[in-house]
Amino acid sequence: MSFDGTYDRDNIFAKILRGEVPSARVFEDEHVYAFMDAFPQARGHTLVIPKHSQARNLLEEEPQILSHLILGVQRVARAVRAAINPDGVMIMQFNGSPAGQTVFHLHFHIVPRWADQPMRLHAHGQMAEMAELKALAEQIAAKIS
Ligand code: 5GP
Repeated sequence: MSFDGTYDRDNIFAKILRGEVPSARVFEDEHVYAFMDAFPQARGHTLVIPKHSQARNLLEEEPQILSHLILGVQRVARAVRAAINPDGVMIMQFNGSPAGQTVFHLHFHIVPRWADQPMRLHAHGQMAEMAELKALAEQIAAKIS
């Protein structure tokens, strides 16, 4: 399943939203859910997803849901910055597997960057320890405003 196709209700993010797969939650409201990426490309790599959506990518999303989502991305990115003080923050979003997408529920990546540290490759990282992710999630959550 890639650029075209039907939404898979059993994709990993749908399972996370239903609580069937554990995640290190950073923030949620009625529209969006933010949690730590399990294979972080950098310390503090966070994902933001719409809660009530069957869009596999940005091109399919309804404007109303997208508006809430991008505001959620900004809010969480500010908290990431306040919590772990990176030199920059990369916001990434992939559409279709040739573009790098591996999970087909719309999401934005928030990847903190430090001037002297290369970013790990996308979808090639090692799985992080849940305890470490939860500690980071708590730090970031404390800075949500
Ligand atoms: P994409 O490649 O679709 O842009 O991004 C999917 C992201 O989901 C990847 O960065 C990957 O590390 C992350 N990911 C894949 N499986 C899981 C999981 O089970 N839990 C969490 N928290 N992240 C996941």
